Amino acid sequence: NQNMHPTLSPLNVNGGDADDRRNVINLDHGDPTMYERYWQEMGDKTTVVIPGWQFTSYFSDAGNLCWFLEPELAKEIVRLHKVVGNAITEGRHIVVGTGSSQLFLAALYAFTDDASEPFSVVSAAPYYSSYPAATDCLKSGLYKWGGDARNFTKTGPYIELVTSPNNPDGFVRKSVVNRRGGILVHDLAYYWPQYTPITSAADYELMLFTVSKSTGHAGMRIGWALVKDPLIAKKMVKYIELSTIGVSKDSQLRAAKVLKVVSDSCGIAARPRENFFTYCHLLMAERWKLLREAVKQSGIFSLPEFEPGFCNFFQCLFEPLPAFAWLKCEGVIEDCESFLKSHNIWTRSGRHFGVSPSYVRVSMLDRDRTFGFFVKRLSQIHL
Ligand code: PMP
Repeated sequence: NQNMHPTLSPLNVNGGDADDRRNVINLDHGDPTMYERYWQEMGDKTTVVIPGWQFTSYFSDAGNLCWFLEPELAKEIVRLHKVVGNAITEGRHIVVGTGSSQLFLAALYAFTDDASEPFSVVSAAPYYSSYPAATDCLKSGLYKWGGDARNFTKTGPYIELVTSPNNPDGFVRKSVVNRRGGILVHDLAYYWPQYTPITSAADYELMLFTVSKSTGHAGMRIGWALVKDPLIAKKMVKYIELSTIGVSKDSQLRAAKVLKVVSDSCGIAARPRENFFTYCHLLMAERWKLLREAVKQSGIFSLPEFEPGFCNFFQCLFEPLPAFAWLKCEGVIEDCESFLKSHNIWTRSGRHFGVSPSYVRVSMLDRDRTFGFFVKRLSQIHL
């Protein structure tokens, strides 16, 4: 389809409708509905048909360490990382999970399985708001949420969660505690070229990825971990075996097809706009431009500023275009979430991320129409 390209502008995002201020604009969650449009344009390319008699077994690859991993998905994960250059897959075990959320819990279980004293689980604030609750949900005696990694003074073993680029603020991160024997889990959900320059292939002990934020298929609930240590990988597999006896095959096959189409799209030099990452990157760039203009017009908010980096995938320099806007209310407004709520814009307070309520996180991944209403309404908020 030669005509396919993102044409986001303040005019067409609203589809000609007027903004009714009684309508709630809900940008609290990071639901990646923005991606629907690309996949609609792709038509039947990612359609998967599964006859009723197929894929009925619990097992996918009985001889593999991760016995419930579909070989086709494993193949496409390796291929996509190679095409994008964002992670090393050689010498790694792939563990598939019901979203990277399940793999996060599996990693905590695996690292603390034979602990003689409880681990603290920490992450530098502002940290992803689900980490504290997910860490403490089972009230394990073996690990406990320990808060902001920058203020971590407790002695004893710890696991540091490094989210890069970070949710909520979009900055590229490194570990901050750096004590001997510390365990690192790298959550690389957003390390894809539509959001951030791919500066090198990530090469960490345990890396988490998800289709939710790479291709926009959050509803498929598929994530994967690249794990160096086979003993840790085995324990993660054990956790998934105990909690869900594997991961939906239907979803894995769908994910394999979607990843295949993404990798294929990167190789079609004659139709550059069909390139999944080019398409989504241009869309994000347009959205960030519109958001920065709206913030300027309003005059009461601020946004983070980013240094450009050279992206090996796109072979050019660009500034990060995060999946969330980390918006700060400047001046007298102390509670940014309540303030925006009074304008029927729902966001998530900085409080949930371990920082001040003068910040909010706003999803940049909603549909064009919602995003269009949002920037327009924001630009008209004055004190
Ligand atoms: N990690 C981070 C940093 C995220 O932002 C998210 C999604 N909001 C997840 C993990 C969870 O992803 P999944 O849908 O794969 O469970």
